[in-house]
Amino acid sequence: MLAIKTTESIQNESIFGQLTTLEHEQLLICQDKDTGLKALIGIHNTVLGPALGGTRLWSYASEEAAIRDVLRLSRGMTFKNALAGLNLGGGKAVLIGDPKLKTEAYLRRFGRFIESLGGRYVTAEDVNMKTADMEYIALETRHVTGLPKNKGGAGDPSPVTAFGVYMGMKAAAKKAYGSDSLAGKKIGVQGVGQVGKYLINYLVKEGASLFISDIDDKKLQEIAASTGATILDKEEIYDLQMDIYAPCALGGTLNDHTIERLTCQVIAGGANNQLENESKHGKMLLEKGITYAPDFLINAGGVINVGAEYYGVYEEESVFAQTEKIYDTCLSILTTAEHQQIPAQEAAIQAAKARIEAIGKIKLPY
Ligand code: NAD
Repeated sequence: MLAIKTTESIQNESIFGQLTTLEHEQLLICQDKDTGLKALIGIHNTVLGPALGGTRLWSYASEEAAIRDVLRLSRGMTFKNALAGLNLGGGKAVLIGDPKLKTEAYLRRFGRFIESLGGRYVTAEDVNMKTADMEYIALETRHVTGLPKNKGGAGDPSPVTAFGVYMGMKAAAKKAYGSDSLAGKKIGVQGVGQVGKYLINYLVKEGASLFISDIDDKKLQEIAASTGATILDKEEIYDLQMDIYAPCALGGTLNDHTIERLTCQVIAGGANNQLENESKHGKMLLEKGITYAPDFLINAGGVINVGAEYYGVYEEESVFAQTEKIYDTCLSILTTAEHQQIPAQEAAIQAAKARIEAIGKIKLPY
């Protein structure tokens, strides 16, 4: 059995302690006084291929918080990419500071740091980074993906992410109810942004009964008008008597305060890092009998999309076909979790690690 180390256990460790505990290969600290760039690039594991994961720009409360975030996120990318069957490792970058810092020089300087890694790390968009920013980075490095369609890229990955989440939700429904039909199921979607709105389209087509929440009232009104979904207050969603909860906004919404309020049988959504505490809250869901489709498993459509772009083999049909496989992977992982009586998150990490270990071995004898 492969040991699973969790991100919570690193809180009080030194930097090398954190890298050792979470099994990272490398952490690159980059600064440029002229542009104000402060960047961290975390490379967790490159056994399967170059470490691919987006860049997040955020005003972190402390440097320690930024380090924890880049390590946690890059590790998550390793598992996501491995389970999606990609020949890609896991990495992530964080830029510390205000989004106003973004200038052409700032982004190109960051691009040069990425280039210095010689392809060990490949970037893409994440929070506060847009396709237009990738264009500047691409002026300095070819190890960037997620470019706009008119620049030869694959464009917005959200429709593919939403399709994968839909597949994962159906697999989880199959495990929980014996049928993957979502017709008549009462589903609460938290966050009707890019992923949420495309997911809702699939759910409406299947005849689900939809309840939506967001902090953006305009988006809610638009979705409600076009789909007939019922609008909920931001907090109300946790108390809704629903079959399926789909977190598609922020991370950490599965925590001490919300899990006890939830009455759903299934949780399947697109948001990253839904479990506030990976081990504790994974166990709480198991004990409550809730079927949980791990986020990094079912929201991999986006990385499948940018991965195909990076390898220069982008074809929409095959990207959707690969994303459809999330259904089978999710069902298999939920079945393993059930047999072993372990949280689905743990079963998913085990499966990802097993693939990395197996492929790592076949790469040795050259
Ligand atoms: P987005 O910014 O388009 O949408 C997020 C939505 O959540 C917004 O409408 C926002 O107003 C809403 N929101 C914020 N706080 C909220 C709250 N407290 N309650 C309810 N709603 C709230 O982002 P997105 O691209 O749709 O991504 C959604 C989630 O999916 C994120 O966690 C992201 O990391 C994850 N994700 C996205 C992709 C992708 O391809 N876009 C891929 C993988 C994972």
